[in-house]
Parts: sequence; structure tokens; C-alpha cells
Amino acid sequence: MQQQETAILDRYGLLGYPVGHSKSPIIHRLFAEQTDQAMSYELVEVRPEKLDDMVRAFQRNGGRGLNVTVPHKADVTRLVDELSEAASIAGAVNTLDMRDNHIVGHNTDGIGLVRDLTQNWQFDIAGKRILIFGAGGAAQGIIAPLFEHEPALITIANRTVAKADALANHFGTLGNVNATRFADIRDGSEPYDLVINATSAGLGGEDAPFPRAAVSNRHTACYDLSYSLNTTPFIVWAQKVDAQRTRSGWGMLLEQAAEPLRLWRGVMPDTHAVIKRLPVN
Ligand code: NAP
Repeated sequence: MQQQETAILDRYGLLGYPVGHSKSPIIHRLFAEQTDQAMSYELVEVRPEKLDDMVRAFQRNGGRGLNVTVPHKADVTRLVDELSEAASIAGAVNTLDMRDNHIVGHNTDGIGLVRDLTQNWQFDIAGKRILIFGAGGAAQGIIAPLFEHEPALITIANRTVAKADALANHFGTLGNVNATRFADIRDGSEPYDLVINATSAGLGGEDAPFPRAAVSNRHTACYDLSYSLNTTPFIVWAQKVDAQRTRSGWGMLLEQAAEPLRLWRGVMPDTHAVIKRLPVN
């Protein structure tokens, strides 16, 4: 009788609520095919009150690692045995590495953004004036990695200005950083070289509050952390105010997903080959 071989796949996934819209399973399937990894990647949808039980059950049932998204990036830090330096500075985790009952929390958002900016988009951060819209989990993860490349200034603008103030205080020892309201960004001040959108403003169809004065025509580059099959509200706005060039968050998405594969399995996928296979714009 012929024996049928069943491949045993190492188990990984994305933890969040909701996660149904996520492109991570497609990206990780393409990465696994490309790097010849025997792994599965599933969506793990869990409400905040069930977070602890779900993470422990995933690990007990052979789980090797999880990516973590909204709304769990901060809460999940209490479940880890060890935090990487990037996760510790950010105060947020987007990757769990599970080995022998030991969980290490990492944050790959910053490295993902910086790789996409500097290597894929050829934007040189050194000496640049950077404005970040937003002060949520994503903003928290990108500020320290941006400072490693020595920008002249990072300004954080947020609807809830107290959260921008808190981030400016938290990262104040790393470099020149300040906080502001959207309404206080006015014409006449020294222009920004790069505006990064780290908000989810406009994605629900509401008016986005981005101030015209943030962009100095044909000088300022605009980068959106958000990504969509359609042009995002921030990119529509940036093109309308004549930004020098624009880029959406697909490249960052790929880079921040590639780094966990390196951490989990020691292989680095070729993100350029994979991005060509996605319906990005
Ligand atoms: P979050 O923690 O929920 O923070 C949301 C941010 O958006 C806050 O600063 C919030 O301001 C602001 N905001 C929401 N609606 C707004 C509105 N109508 N007007 C003005 N500000 C508004 O979310 P997050 O994790 O930081 O994620 C932010 C975005 O980045 C999401 O679209 C996410 O998909 C994207 N992201 C992309 C990647 C990637 O790999 N490309 C990685 C991480 C995140 P308040 O503080 O005032 O509420």
C-alpha cells in the first residue's frame, strides 16, 4: 500500500480585531513559496478580552509566531517574556517569536518604513525636516528608527494633541522633536522635506484634516503608511497640494512583514519580487 506523506507545517498567523481585510496571509504565502519554507499563516481574530487566552492557546497548539495588529500592539507587551530594543523603545509589539515556552516581542514597523524609504524610494533621511501626522501605535513604532538616520527635526501633529505631546516627551532624548495641532501648521514656516501620514484619517470616508501648509509645492515628499487597492485619501490630498512625489504603504507593508520571517526562520525574502505579484498602486 502506498503511504501518503503529509507535510507538517510550522504555524504562524496575524492576531488582531478585525483581521478579515488583511493581506498578510497572501504576502506570507508568497514569501514562503519564494524561500521554500514549510509554514502556514492564518488569521487569528480576537477581541481584547480574549487576547491572553488566545495567545497562550496558539502557542500550546504548536504556534511558532504571530504578527500583531490593531488593537493589540500595546496590550500584547504584557504577555511576552522579553522585548526587543525596538519594541521596548516603541512600547508596542507587532511580532511575537515563540520558542520553548518563551515569547520575544519585536516591533518591525520602524525597520519596515526605513527600508522602504531609504532603499526602495531612495529618500535620504539625514538632515531632513519630517512631519508625522498621527500619534497612534504606528507613529510610536517609527519615530526611534527614523531618528537613527539623523533627521534635523521630527514634528508630530495629531488630532488629540495630548498624544502628540506624550510622544514628543517620550522620544525627546533621541533628537529634535516637537508636537503640534493640525491647525497650527501654517504657511510661512520653514518647509518640511517629508510628510508621513500615520493616521487612519479619511479611510472611513470622512473629511481628512491634513493642512495645506504642510506641503511646500514641488519640494515636499509625502509618504502614506496606509495602503489600499484605490488611491488613499492622503495620497489624493498630497497630489492635490502638488507634493513633489508620493508613495503609499505597500512597500512598508512588505518590508515590515519580511523582517518577522527573518526573525522566525532566518531567511530574508526578496520583497521586490513579491510586490510585483500584488495588486498595489
Ligand atoms: P491607531 O493606533 O488606531 O492610531 C490612529 C491615528 O489616526 C491616531 O493618531 C488618530 O488620532 C488618527 N485619526 C484617526 N481618525 C482620524 C481623523 N478622522 N482625523 C484625524 N486623525 C485621525 O492606528 P495605527 O496602528 O497607528 O495605524 C495608523 C495607520 O497606519 C493605519 O491606517 C494602518 O493601516 C497604517 N499602518 C500601516 C503599516 C504598513 O505596514 N504599511 C503599518 C502600521 C500601520 P487620535 O489620537 O486623535 O485618535
